[in-house]
Parts: sequence; structure tokens; C-alpha cells
Amino acid sequence: MQRNHFEPEHLAFADAFRSFADKELVPHYLDWERAGIAPREIFQEAGRNGFLGMAVPEEYGGGGVDDFRFNQALNEQIALAGVTGVGLGISLHNDTCLPYFLSFCTDEQRRRWLPGIASGELITAVAMTEPGAGSDLAGIRTSAKRDGDSYIVNGSKTFITNGVNADLVITAVRTGDASADDRRAGMSLLILERGMPGFERGRNLDKLGLHSQDTAELSFSDVRVPVENLLGEEGTGFGQLTQKLPQERMSLAVNGVAEARAAFEETLRYVQDRKAFGKTISSFQNTKFVLAEIATEIDVTQAFVDKGVDLLNAKQLDPADAAKAKWWATELQGRVIDRCLQLHGGYGYMTEYPVSRRYADARVTRIYGGTTEIMKGVISKSLGL
Ligand SMILES: Cc1cc2nc3c(=O)[nH]c(=O)nc-3n(C[C@H](O)[C@H](O)[C@H](O)COP(=O)(O)OP(=O)(O)OC[C@H]3O[C@@H](n4cnc5c(N)ncnc54)[C@H](O)[C@@H]3O)c2cc1C
Repeated sequence: MQRNHFEPEHLAFADAFRSFADKELVPHYLDWERAGIAPREIFQEAGRNGFLGMAVPEEYGGGGVDDFRFNQALNEQIALAGVTGVGLGISLHNDTCLPYFLSFCTDEQRRRWLPGIASGELITAVAMTEPGAGSDLAGIRTSAKRDGDSYIVNGSKTFITNGVNADLVITAVRTGDASADDRRAGMSLLILERGMPGFERGRNLDKLGLHSQDTAELSFSDVRVPVENLLGEEGTGFGQLTQKLPQERMSLAVNGVAEARAAFEETLRYVQDRKAFGKTISSFQNTKFVLAEIATEIDVTQAFVDKGVDLLNAKQLDPADAAKAKWWATELQGRVIDRCLQLHGGYGYMTEYPVSRRYADARVTRIYGGTTEIMKGVISKSLGL
């Protein structure tokens, strides 16, 4: 179905990113997948080319345009180029972390951090999840106790995307106790910086997919963090996270449908080439019907996701609608890629075929950013249930 979502400048931006990806990311991608991490320098390279911090004001070295369609266009090209693992780090930096800095930094913090975020000198991460608290965000235990002009931070985080490469980690901490009637009280966001004594990286975790993405454990042992690194007001952390999670979820929805589309396009080519019983795989009625169903599902989902992006741009996106987009598009991603792999036969199981990597990479999208079950909880709450 024809899509009227992008303006010429978004399409030009998408083309420019695709050229960048084909030149700088694709040739090295399998090496990074084997290494379990991509080099920090790709962030600087992306920053130099204008692919980081599009929403950062120009005075701080950013693109000065707060229009999520640029993020969307970039994320779609990541999927089409097949560099999902590396791409996750970039989209997390642009789509998930940056909004916290733009909304909650003081002027002094903006001067200190935004230029490096836009240039890629400062790589960002967000650390909410702990070994004992994932879906139940209010259950975090990492503590930050005030001591003069500092907080003393103790605790640990796990599954942190960009965890090894990150320089600035938006860290959810407890600066106060939860109260009996409000488990969400007493949470704050602190920026922990690379090199702070007591801030250690644990293992770069070995995963089912997304191998080139560094997902790490972080530990904090009496880390002295100056109060100048508090993001926003003390005690408002839960509300800050709730405010920013819808954009993270739209980013994952954008990626979900883009990954499904990329697998679909690869499969469409494959089945017209591969033969069995003297005919192309595409000539079997089952193949035609499966691909017809997938084409329909992708178009329907794309229309919903594009609408969500427009609402996000207009600052009218309801958290429940972001949750609908996230669970639907990521479940679609899993379903479509599974069917595409099936149409590849045994070759689809071989890692040299992108569909096999897409299959492994897709599994986690129904889990991170809030699981499908948690998304349904957000939606049912909006129904008054
Ligand atoms: C590769 C990867 C990257 C990640 N990156 C980050 C990151 O950058 N930053 C970060 O902070 N976190 C990150 N995460 C963590 C991720 O957000 C959590 O794994 C996720 O929120 C689920 O938490 P959990 O793993 O503790 O599962 P649990 O909360 O233990 O859930 C286990 C199961 O129980 C279900 N469940 C839990 N509560 C309910 C309920 N109330 N109703 C119904 N079902 C429920 C869940 O849906 C799930 O199926 C990442 C995870 C992975 C795997």
C-alpha cells in the first residue's frame, strides 16, 4: 500500500543512512557478531555523518529537528541493511536515551553532555532492570544515599544495552523508600559516568541473538556521584520513566514492522529463485497465500505504527496506544520471520542467510522495553480494568 508518511527530507535522510550503513557497517557486521560487540568508533562515525542526536538543538551540535520520522527512517534502514545488533545500540541512543537528556537536563547539564551525545563521543545507556526486578520496575533496590554534595550508589543492574560501550548511564536508583501506599515513591534518575570509582562493568552477556550488541551487567560499589548528575528532581524517577517509555515502545514497534518487512522482501526474492519439484517455490499455492497474508499484515501494522509516530510527534501519544503498537508489531515480527524462515527451508536455518539472524534477533523484542504481557496490562488499565 502506498505510504504518504515521509517527506522528501526523510527519504533523503534514509538514503544517506543506507549508504553509510552499506559502507561502514555491513562489511564488518559478521566480525562484530562474532566478537560480541561493535567498536565505539561507529558511534563517532555515525555522529560525524549526522545520524546521532537529530533532535539535539543545533547550538549543541545536533540536527535541531525534533521529528521522530527521522529516527523511524534510520531504523527502517538498519533493518533493511540487516545490521540489527549494531542498529539497536544506535536507536537506543537516539530514541530511548536522548529524550531523557532533552527533557530533564539543566542548562549546565545540557552544555556538559549534549554535544558529546550528538557527536558520538558520549555513548548512552539506560539502566532500569536489576537481577531481582525487571517487569516490576518499582521493585528496584539500587540505592543512592545523599552524603553532602554527592550520592553514594550501591547495587547492580543487568541486561543493559550498550552496557560495555556506554559513557553515560541513566540509572534508576532509590533515593528514598517506597511508601506503603506508593511503591513508586522514592525513585530518581542519576547519570553514572564511565570511570567513576566503584562503577564496574560485569560480563558482556552471551545471548540467543543480537550478538554484536553489548548487553552487560553493571555493578555499583560505593560510587560517589555528584548531585550535579541528578536528572530532574529527586524522587520523580518513576514518573520520568513513565513519561519516556512510550517513545521507547514506538521505536521498538517501528523496528518490529521494519524487520518483518525486510524478511518479507528477502523471502519474496528467495522463493522466486529456489526450485523444488521442477518449479519455483513461489509457484506453490501455499507460498503465495503465506506471502499474501504477510504482505497484508505488514501494511495494516505499518499504518498503525505510522499513526503512532505522528501522534508522538504531536505530543499526543497515549501510553496505551504505544503499548498496543509495541506488542502488536513485535509479535508480528516474530510470526512473520518464522514463516519467512520456513519458506527458506534448511537454508533459512543457516546463519549465512539473514533470515536466520533475524529470527534469533527477533525473540527478545517481545521481552525488552516491557514484555507483551506488561503491554497488555498497560492497555487493560486504560480500559479501566
Ligand atoms: C537483550 C536484552 C536487552 C535489554 N536491554 C535493557 C536495557 O538497556 N535497560 C534495561 O533497563 N533493561 C533492559 N533489558 C531488560 C528487559 O527490559 C527485561 O528483561 C524485561 O523488562 C522483563 O523483565 P525480566 O527479565 O525481569 O522478566 P520478569 O519480570 O521476571 O518476567 C518473567 C515473565 O513473567 C511475566 N510477568 C511479569 N509480571 C507480570 C504481570 N504482572 N502479569 C503478567 N505477566 C507478568 C513476564 O511477561 C515474563 O513473561 C534487556 C533485556 C534483554 C534480554
